[in-house]
Amino acid sequence: MHCPFCGANDTKVIDSRLVTDGDQVRRRRECLACQERFTTFETAELVMPRLVKQDGRRQPFDEDKLRAGLLRALEKRPVSVEQIEAAISHIKHRLRATGEREIKAMVVGEMVMSELKQLDEVAYIRFASVYRRFQDLNQFREEIERLSRSGQDESDA
Ligand SMILES: [Zn+2]
Repeated sequence: MHCPFCGANDTKVIDSRLVTDGDQVRRRRECLACQERFTTFETAELVMPRLVKQDGRRQPFDEDKLRAGLLRALEKRPVSVEQIEAAISHIKHRLRATGEREIKAMVVGEMVMSELKQLDEVAYIRFASVYRRFQDLNQFREEIERLSRSGQDESDA
């Protein structure tokens, strides 16, 4: 932290306290070079990581999309809007808590599944069956290729 008076680098914190419900820290600092005192306000930077898709594309986290996915899985299930919103905020909290700037989209999918597992088993199975199928698409393709290759081998023989 540069001193705003002389630009020196060495400052020491002489007092720190939380302000605005603990979202910010107010720090009283003293410059070790010119002894001027100044105040800084620090806010924890909680950035939502960007999502990295399987093909390497990056996408910003989309809360509406997350909500739509949950609602689709929970359609006609006995789960309240409050419970859904709580699940969304758990997921957002966990994403921020990673402290990562980028995270695999797959990780979000796993988080959604663990929330749904607790909320409603039917919704969990609905989501997991669709989601896993997408995840396993490459594996599936490889398996098909492998099978068709071995089929050719047999006809050659
Ligand atoms: Zn100074």
